Amino acid sequence: MDEFCFSRLTNLITRFSTRSLDAFLVSIPENRYYLSGFYAEDGGPQETAGYLVIGTDKRYLVTDGRYEIQASNEAPLYEIVVYQEDMAASVADILKEIGCEKVGFEAQYLSFSTYSRLSDALKKAGCRCELVATEDFVENLRMVKDPTEIAIVEEAVLKTEEVLAKVVPELKENVTEKDIAYLLESGLKKSGAEKVAFDPIVASGPNGALPHAIPGKRALAPGDAVVIDFGGRFNHYCSDMTRTFFIGQVSEEMKKIYGTVRKAQRLAIESVKPGKMGKEIDKVARDFIASQGFGEYFVHGLGHGVGLAVHEKPGINKRTKTTLQPGMIITIEPGIYVKNLGGVRLEDMVLVTDDGCRVLNRDDFYYDI
Ligand code: ZN
Ligand code: ZN
Repeated sequence: MDEFCFSRLTNLITRFSTRSLDAFLVSIPENRYYLSGFYAEDGGPQETAGYLVIGTDKRYLVTDGRYEIQASNEAPLYEIVVYQEDMAASVADILKEIGCEKVGFEAQYLSFSTYSRLSDALKKAGCRCELVATEDFVENLRMVKDPTEIAIVEEAVLKTEEVLAKVVPELKENVTEKDIAYLLESGLKKSGAEKVAFDPIVASGPNGALPHAIPGKRALAPGDAVVIDFGGRFNHYCSDMTRTFFIGQVSEEMKKIYGTVRKAQRLAIESVKPGKMGKEIDKVARDFIASQGFGEYFVHGLGHGVGLAVHEKPGINKRTKTTLQPGMIITIEPGIYVKNLGGVRLEDMVLVTDDGCRVLNRDDFYYDI
């Protein structure tokens, strides 16, 4: 991990000049782990397990007494600073000590109240350094995975599919969405996941029309299409997959929807290669779905990056100008959602390679329609 953290830090520091920074404050938990090896979960932006202060040649991990031992074990490249009560004052002291003028912070995560406390603490410490709002500074680095990360994600995908294989026989009449969600969740834990990557989605019959339905007490019934979207966090990295299953015979319309989503997914996957913009991949699936008359029912982006976070850069949607690079791991997950009828979504994770892509999922749990 240290060697990876070291090269990641070097990459980050190289990017300082783009915003004239001489230090960077890391508050996002995934970024903290990525750059230090210290893995902890925050109770939310207001309850941090620690911040990294990264200068051009000095690095600090500012945390509280609960994490002191763990932080020193996991983040040997950092000087561990344990604050008693006032984290902001500790950070301000460090910034003063390294004599920095511009420190970048993660504007999408650092709360306004923490920002204010930090500004006050800097004034109090007599430090004139300016807080510079940045976005995606570390996330842009995280988009491209190294071989170790790729191996971890591949394993996570494999384990997730094994869990699904055990749950599929339970997809039958009278079993509720909640029952299935529980089996998925406990299956993930049994197979070694630290936790779920997100709460499983099990959406049956008309509930399938809600892309992010919460599993409820509805029992599966003949004629249902059941959307199952779930993933686990293995070794800190996420898996994310969706399949849609039929209970008994479904309508011809539902079959047509399924066939359309499957073909859109295939076409999009075939179009994935380095140099393509995310929005171009999205368009392949979107245009096909529209050509089949379902354009208005595909209500979300085609996919997203997956790694330490289940949703990370690059987005694969109408607006994504980010170009794909080898080593990115993205999902391809078209869907069609029709009110009162139901929905179909199919999601695989794919790795962008030098000349195209490789689907990390096996070609399992699909109907041949
Ligand atoms: Zn998903
Ligand atoms: Zn997804």
